[in-house]
Amino acid sequence: MPIAREAFPCWKCAQPGADEARHWLAGCDDSDLESKLSPGGNPIMCCKVRVVGVVPASDTTRAAT
Ligand SMILES: [Zn+2]
Repeated sequence: MPIAREAFPCWKCAQPGADEARHWLAGCDDSDLESKLSPGGNPIMCCKVRVVGVVPASDTTRAAT
C-alpha cells in the first residue's frame, strides 16, 4: 500500500527546506521513504524533525565536559 505523501506535515509546511522535502517525497519510492523516516514518523529532511532534534545548549556543554 503506497504511503500517502500528503499526510506528512512537511507536505504543506512553508519552511525554506520544504520544497526540497516535497520534491523528494514525490519522487522517492515507498521503501526509500520508509528508510528515511524519523522515529516521530516524519521524513528526516523535514524542518519538524530538525526542530524536535535540537539539543539544549546547556546539555551539550555538560556532555562535552
Ligand atoms: Zn517541513
